[in-house]
Amino acid sequence: MIEPDSSVSPTISFEFFPPSTPKGWANLDRRITELEPLEPSFVSVTYGAGGSMRERTHDLVVRLLQETEIPAVPHLTCVGHTGAEIDGILDRYAMAGVETILALRGDAPRDGAGSERGEFEFAADLVRHIQRFNDRNGSSFRIGVAGFPEGHPDTPNTLEGMAHLKAKVDAGADWICTQLFFDNHAFLDWRDRCRLEGIDVPIIAGIMPISTRKSVVRMAGLAAGTVFPASLQRALGRASLDDEDAIAEVGLHWASEQCRDLLDHEVDGIHFYTLNKSDATLRIHRSLGVRTARSLRRANV
Ligand SMILES: Cc1cc2nc3c(=O)[nH]c(=O)nc-3n(C[C@H](O)[C@H](O)[C@H](O)COP(=O)(O)OP(=O)(O)OC[C@H]3O[C@@H](n4cnc5c(N)ncnc54)[C@H](O)[C@@H]3O)c2cc1C
Repeated sequence: MIEPDSSVSPTISFEFFPPSTPKGWANLDRRITELEPLEPSFVSVTYGAGGSMRERTHDLVVRLLQETEIPAVPHLTCVGHTGAEIDGILDRYAMAGVETILALRGDAPRDGAGSERGEFEFAADLVRHIQRFNDRNGSSFRIGVAGFPEGHPDTPNTLEGMAHLKAKVDAGADWICTQLFFDNHAFLDWRDRCRLEGIDVPIIAGIMPISTRKSVVRMAGLAAGTVFPASLQRALGRASLDDEDAIAEVGLHWASEQCRDLLDHEVDGIHFYTLNKSDATLRIHRSLGVRTARSLRRANV
C-alpha cells in the first residue's frame, strides 16, 4: 500500500515521464540512482497519447519494479481506450507486480483522433472499470485519482467540480494527488472543502519547483488555471533575464517554503513533479529534514 500511513507519514513521492531517446533514459537512470536513497513512498510514471509513449510507460514501470526498491505507480488515462484495451494493460501490470494505478481521464487529442473509439467519458468510469477488473480477476489494484485545488478548466462551477471529485472517491478511489499549485492557501482551503464534502481519503499535494523562465509559461499552459502569486512573480521578475540560475534558486526557495508550510499543516503527502531532474527535489528534501523509512528504523521509532 502506498498511501500515507502512520509508519511513513507524510508520503514523499516523485513523478517521472518515460524518455523517448537513449540519452533521456541514461539521464533518468542517473536521476533514479540519486533519488532512490530518499526512499520515496512511490514514484509515478506518466502515460501519454500515442502507442509508443504508452509502451514506454509500461517499460519504465517494469524497470523500476525490477531494478529498484521503489513501488512504481503507472498513470493510466482512459480517453480513447476501449474497455478491452484497458483490461489488457491491467493484465500486464498485474503480472508485473504493480499494486496501484493513478486513474485519469486524460485529454482528447485536439484533432479528436481516436476519441470515437473510447468507451470512457470520465476518470470515474475508469475507477469503476478497475474495480470491476479487481472483482473479476481477484486482483487488488489500489487506485489514485487527480484533484484540482484551483479548479479544472472544463468545470468552472467549483461546486460541480467538487461533486465530480467525490464521485471518483465514491467509485473506489483510495487517494488523491493534486495538480501542481504555487498558492498554499488555495490548496488548504480546497482541502477543507474536500473534507466538508465528505472526501476523507488521503490528499497528496503536487509540487513543481520552477527551474527556468520558459518552464513558467509551459506550466501555465499545462496546469491551466493555476495561479502564480504576485510575490512569486515579483521574485522571478527581480532575476535578470539571462540569469537562469537565479530563476532556479527562486523556484527552489518557493517550493521549499511551500513544502515546509504543507508539512506544518499536516499534509498527507508531497508529490514532486521532477521533470526527470533531481537537483531541486534533493535540495528541497534535505531542507525539510524529512526522515526516510530507513532512518526511522535506525532511530528505532
Ligand atoms: C496528478 C495528475 C497526473 C496526471 N497525469 C497525466 C498523464 O500521465 N497523462 C495525461 O495525459 N494526463 C495526465 N494528467 C492530466 C489529466 O489527464 C487532465 O487534467 C484531464 O483533463 C483531467 O483528468 P481527470 O482524471 O481529473 O478527469 P475527470 O475526473 O474525468 O475530470 C475531467 C473533467 O470532467 C469533469 N467531470 C467529471 N465527471 C463529470 C460528469 N459526470 N459530468 C460532467 N463533467 C464531469 C470534471 O469536473 C473535470 O472538469 C494528470 C493530472 C494530474 C492532476
